Amino acid sequence: MKFEYAPAPESRAIVDIKSSYGLFVGGEFVDPVDGHRFKTVNPATEEVLAEVSAAGPRDVDAAVQAARGAYTRTWQRMRGAERAKYLYRIARIMQERARELAVLESIDNGKPIRESRDVDVPLAAAHFFYYAGWADKLGYALSGREPRPLGVAGQVIPWNFPLLMLAWKVAPALAAGNTVVLKPAETTPLSALLFAEICQQADLPPGVVNIITGAGDTGRALVEHDGVDKVAFTGSTEVGKQIARSVAGSGKKVTLELGGKAANVVFDDAPIDQAVEGIVDGIFFNQGHVCCAGSRLLVQESVAEDVLSRLKYRLTTLRVGDPLDKNTDVGAINSAAQLERIRELSAVGEAEGAQRWSPPCELPERGYWFPPTVFTGVSQAHRIAREEIFGPVLSVLTFRTPAEAVDKANNSPYGLSAGVWTDKGSRILWMAQRLRAGVVWANTFNRFDPGSPFGGYQESGYGREGGRHGLEAYLQ
Ligand code: NAP
Ligand code: MG
Repeated sequence: MKFEYAPAPESRAIVDIKSSYGLFVGGEFVDPVDGHRFKTVNPATEEVLAEVSAAGPRDVDAAVQAARGAYTRTWQRMRGAERAKYLYRIARIMQERARELAVLESIDNGKPIRESRDVDVPLAAAHFFYYAGWADKLGYALSGREPRPLGVAGQVIPWNFPLLMLAWKVAPALAAGNTVVLKPAETTPLSALLFAEICQQADLPPGVVNIITGAGDTGRALVEHDGVDKVAFTGSTEVGKQIARSVAGSGKKVTLELGGKAANVVFDDAPIDQAVEGIVDGIFFNQGHVCCAGSRLLVQESVAEDVLSRLKYRLTTLRVGDPLDKNTDVGAINSAAQLERIRELSAVGEAEGAQRWSPPCELPERGYWFPPTVFTGVSQAHRIAREEIFGPVLSVLTFRTPAEAVDKANNSPYGLSAGVWTDKGSRILWMAQRLRAGVVWANTFNRFDPGSPFGGYQESGYGREGGRHGLEAYLQ
């Protein structure tokens, strides 16, 4: 049963949100020259949090010039050990200001404070610590070759892990000696702007990091800018394809981290209770706004009934609500547009004949909310088995043999991640060799470490982030 807990909200008073923000260019916050202003809201309440600047083409140009200047004048010439000091300093300040960052991330994004506090922020700091360690050892990263930075990196990130995606992009780029212009997502600009303040606090040379807020137009202007040597994009497959076309033949180096539709495969010999926790973590972590979410559950037919009944029982204990309450498991959907997409695809699931189930749960009146949802009776042809829903919606399919599990898992245009639950080590290895996915988790799910590379196959993109592989993307 579900016990009632007293509310335990983290105070939002610990973070200072300004009413209006400029663009962070050349080490200072500046007003946009040819941009405009837009508002960012708290998706849990629809309250306006702040007014933010949208960079126009001239603003983008100014940011790229600032990055170029910092690259040629200081950053590229600095010894690796010196660059490392700045990265370590940034990492330490992120740790010192972790509570502020976590609260701000939860307010702007809607994710539970337990996740921003325990996952997003510590992992973001860990990425800076990790890549700081590489800055003076680049010669060892690319076995025997003399590594050189690429120049100015134009980086565009999505809204699901705003600070963590920033860290994945900025830390390796700076460690390798590049300077950056980064555009956060339109709906989640605030943690990137606080990161800009952290760069000031760390005395990072002006222009090494530039943060330009805005929507898709700003992102397009950045990736198409002639002064950008490297494009790093994380987001949807659709926009990723556009970017691949627009930079083709330009000589720019590109990495694309795109969507996914991961299979989480549960065999009949798996420890069922642990597997159920892994299924929950796989799809309901961060409201399912996770590119590598385990959104397709493949469960062996002989245990399907047992797994499903335990899963449904477990879901009745999930707490959906105030992201700033430490007891909350599932927070708000990031935007009205994303909520609409989740509703639409769920309706399609029902129309195509799958059975829809949600635990009884009361959703707050204001804000954007969607209950944890499970679809059973899903076939491989259903849209909810093929398309990325990017929300708290699980599609359940069954299989009989390991070979069938592999065929079904690989029957996807994506190939980012997969999970395997079994008692047999030999079966884990057998599966891992056959699953076409960049990451295969065994008896766990959604585990990240700065030292291990992450990335996809096929429509999930190309290039790797994290680890030594993540440095390669920023070196020639
Ligand atoms: P999106 O629409 O592709 O947006 C991603 C970023 O690109 C945002 O900053 C967006 O600005 C910007 N953008 C939009 N149009 C652009 C254009 N034509 N040129 C350049 N930039 C443009 O994706 P999303 O809906 O925000 O994010 C969800 C997607 O990201 C999912 O498909 C998910 O799987 C994927 N994702 C992948 C990974 C990974 O590592 N593989 C990680 C996280 C998310 P706006 O904010 O204004 O739209
Ligand atoms: Mg917001």
